[in-house]
Amino acid sequence: MNLLLHFHLLVSAALLLSPSLAHDKFDSHVLPRPLSILEYQETPGILLSNELDREVRLLCDGWRFAVEANNLGPWKTVPSECAEYVREYVNGRGYGVDLEVVGKQGLEYAKGLALGGDGKDVWVFDVDETLLSNLPYYADHGYGLEAFNGLEFDKWLEKVKAPAIESSLKLYEELLRLGIKVFLLTGRSERHRSVTEENLRNAGYRNWDKLILRNLEDHGTTATVYKSKKRTEMVEEGYRIVGNSGDQWSDLLGASMSNRSFKLPNPMYYIS
Ligand SMILES: [Mg+2]
Repeated sequence: MNLLLHFHLLVSAALLLSPSLAHDKFDSHVLPRPLSILEYQETPGILLSNELDREVRLLCDGWRFAVEANNLGPWKTVPSECAEYVREYVNGRGYGVDLEVVGKQGLEYAKGLALGGDGKDVWVFDVDETLLSNLPYYADHGYGLEAFNGLEFDKWLEKVKAPAIESSLKLYEELLRLGIKVFLLTGRSERHRSVTEENLRNAGYRNWDKLILRNLEDHGTTATVYKSKKRTEMVEEGYRIVGNSGDQWSDLLGASMSNRSFKLPNPMYYIS
């Protein structure tokens, strides 16, 4: 028996023995299936063609969940077996949908707040991967597969081309409408103040009350320590931090935490 005939016999046997396969082949138009499954199968590049793909996807789902839930210890790069998975996630609908959930939850919470009316209610936003997206930069650097290179990133940052994260821009504008002040607290250096302001304005952000960047004395500390210190200064000035949005847990945890924190997804890098 030649190999081709052998293969045809195997495929025919599989179709006969597998009711689900046979059903998909002949009757898929009869029974409606959930839209999400149809979309999943039709998206190029993420076809679950075999068990190995399925297993890798499962493991990378688990890894990403651990990242978002802050269950992983500090990590330097995306695991190589999840590089393609992360690329698909951040370029596909998943990332956008996840970002929108965070933005909408933030807005629902903000609408229910009893504000002081004294100009002391503030919302703290991180900048990178929270208000601005550096996806074009990470597209050229393996979406987190490469170790972070500060010099290369600075070159990108100085191009002033980072687009807005739309769900964050919407939340930002609604917060201002509600009468909540916006403070921006970023790990970017003070020397990048003007390019950061220009990029934020280009992306549609207006009327922030403070933009806090790292000055010389804040260099060399972790983001958690630096951001905690700056939040404590806000509290000491009499501000009430009603909300805080960031893509890193180091944006949110530490001293003088917000009443509510909103973690945006980011499977590309980790900052402690
Ligand atoms: Mg960030």
